[in-house]
Amino acid sequence: MDSLFVHATLIDGSGIDPVPDAWVRVSGQRITDVGAGATAAGSARVIDCAGRTLMPGLIDAHTHLAAGDYLNQVHLHSKPVIAAQAFTAIADTLDAGFTTVRDAGFTDYGFKQAVTSGLARGPRMLLATGPLSQTGGHSDFRTRQETEPRRSDGLYHPGLVVDGVSECRRGARDLLRRGADHIKIMASGGCTSPTDDVRHPQFTAEEIAAIVYEAQSQDTYVMAHAYTPRAILSCVENGVRSIEHANWVDATSAAAMAEAGVFAVPTIATYELLARDGAGGGMPADQIQQVKDVLASAYDALALLRDAGVKIASGSDVLGPHQGHKALELELKARVLGPMGALVAATATNAQLLGLADEIGTISVGKLADLILLDGNPADNIRILQDPNRIHLIVLGGDIVTDRRDGPSSVTAVRSPFRSPMTVHTPEDRP
Ligand SMILES: [Zn+2]
Repeated sequence: MDSLFVHATLIDGSGIDPVPDAWVRVSGQRITDVGAGATAAGSARVIDCAGRTLMPGLIDAHTHLAAGDYLNQVHLHSKPVIAAQAFTAIADTLDAGFTTVRDAGFTDYGFKQAVTSGLARGPRMLLATGPLSQTGGHSDFRTRQETEPRRSDGLYHPGLVVDGVSECRRGARDLLRRGADHIKIMASGGCTSPTDDVRHPQFTAEEIAAIVYEAQSQDTYVMAHAYTPRAILSCVENGVRSIEHANWVDATSAAAMAEAGVFAVPTIATYELLARDGAGGGMPADQIQQVKDVLASAYDALALLRDAGVKIASGSDVLGPHQGHKALELELKARVLGPMGALVAATATNAQLLGLADEIGTISVGKLADLILLDGNPADNIRILQDPNRIHLIVLGGDIVTDRRDGPSSVTAVRSPFRSPMTVHTPEDRP
């Protein structure tokens, strides 16, 4: 049966002003008609949206769904706990209004398999699985005294450590063999890795070009973690599709991104949350200092990227106890882009980045019906997106998957550790 959403304030994801008294018709998985004012329901099931806002399902283009704890601590948990944390984060992400995610590393292919086969509840998922890192790079998580590489246990994929063009090729091919939808590389140091410096570039131009070649050979692309102009320029020159974080981008590297059509995926939420909570959660002091260093320029970088005309996508990059805070990213981006700019980044622009612009990201005829119905208007108050109880309906590919119109009690119970205040564990008392 068709569904007809009527009397909605419509935010279609394109950036145009909200449309009052709008209606959207859904037939099967797809949107078949959109308009405003009177319409004939015919045989359709009518869903009254008066006083509420209908918009495209949110997209988070930088998640780490299998990171149930901070990256220096994930490996301390038992495998069942890692699996339970990940499945909880995956289900809660959907129930927070994110109908599609692009995972930027650590979530192994089986989680997507479980969701697409109907065994577990979750959003549409595109996974990097394990990131590629050089020895001593941002996803080489060995402490200085460890010599053996950490490997995927089928749940948490710490990534592959590869050096030189031929290992980079083999690494990329192996990730693609194991179901990666895209390749994630660490092209500069990171805040949360034990033996590198956030200011240093990682991988040579030849290594990046080889990985990009392997990805493009299988009709996909490379996303790169990079902070500095030097790292960003090396990625842009060698065919990377998106620069993640980009906190220290300058005018030259921003102009190069704009000219090459490379997307920026600023991820401010994770820095704000780690700067606030990292010490109590057991992050080492030097890592927290690096987080504060990159946070200090995050908002200026976003403004610089916007002014340079770079396509700005959106990701939260949240870890562990912050998995429930993905929508905070929109509030933080709105400080620079305004609420509508933040909404477009997390819908239409993210869909373009994912190569799914014909399928999702806006409410348009022919696209998949990924919709959320909100109590209130996020263009007036973007913080409502952080309260799942104000997300009254979530529609994924035409199916209502979450219905809170009669109040929170009608939601399928999902007890999430990520929604409770963070508890501090010592390694000994961890499960
Ligand atoms: Zn990340």
